[in-house]
Amino acid sequence: MASSNVTQLDSTIVRIESDCGTVGWGETCPAGPTYAPSHAEGARAALCTMAPGLIGEALDQPLLLHRKMNSLLNGHHYAKAAIDIAAFDAMGKKSGRSVADLLGGATTHRVPSYYATAVGEPDEIARIAAEKVREGYPRLQIKISGRPVEIDIEVVQKVWEAVGNRVRLAVDGNRGMTTRDAIRLSQTCRDIPFVLEQPCDSLEEIAAIRPLLLHPVYLDEGGTDLPTVMRAANGIVDGFGMKITRIGGLAPMATFRDLCEACHLPHTADDAWGGDIIAAACAHLGATVNPKLFEGTWIAQPYIDTHYDTNGGVAVVEGHISLPDGPGLGVNPDEALFTKMVARF
Ligand SMILES: [Mg+2]
Repeated sequence: MASSNVTQLDSTIVRIESDCGTVGWGETCPAGPTYAPSHAEGARAALCTMAPGLIGEALDQPLLLHRKMNSLLNGHHYAKAAIDIAAFDAMGKKSGRSVADLLGGATTHRVPSYYATAVGEPDEIARIAAEKVREGYPRLQIKISGRPVEIDIEVVQKVWEAVGNRVRLAVDGNRGMTTRDAIRLSQTCRDIPFVLEQPCDSLEEIAAIRPLLLHPVYLDEGGTDLPTVMRAANGIVDGFGMKITRIGGLAPMATFRDLCEACHLPHTADDAWGGDIIAAACAHLGATVNPKLFEGTWIAQPYIDTHYDTNGGVAVVEGHISLPDGPGLGVNPDEALFTKMVARF
């Protein structure tokens, strides 16, 4: 990405158990320490701060659970999300319902995904783009920025030559562009249809250049909480990339989804990184989004080697994710894989 180069990542997994013996799993995995103001050690410290105060709380009252977490720790949404996801998983397992049902109901059991390229050379990214379209991805996200904008423009042009209208395109600056370069990219590529995702760092920069952009602009990293989303949705951006951990879990993500539907704003339902648990959470939420507004669910599975669930796990096949079957998240991790217990409460 524009800000960092990551090859392996540190995921934090939460297992909660109710007094009736129901188990729920949650996960949070920041994409390294510079993608967002979050990091793996921070997630664990935040969880250890909250955990003693959460013992005895009901798992099937997500609103009250969030209020309790907020009374124990300010901010740190990405850690609270792991508890929230585990609670939804437990709720589903206890009631025999899928997390998608608990979130309002699935509109599909084949959730569209999208492929995100790395920041790369024009010919190579165009080759990958064509390959991913052949695999069945309905949308591609081309990573740019962190280098001269001329190369990024050439990447976008070569991808367009390779795939044309066979796929929807997003071009993601990951906060790394100057306003000058974002304007130049958009105006130079005026005939290529794509959405420009988080070109610059701040909402103020995006608001300043929006009248000069010839492409819809989406907010991703900058959508840190619901008040910011509401401000951006009020005429500054045309849509969102959204990550369940950034917004604080499935309960606030469902609120975000409903807010976007009320404002007719498209969005994704992703996470930064992680394995089967967070991937299942993203797929269940993604399945509930109004298809007219849905930009897909990105999961890390195509980039990583293993599954937690030895019976299969969550995977992208032909550009789509099959919604996991069974109650809760529909994922049953092999606990023997989790060898390092950090804390227990
Ligand atoms: Mg993004």
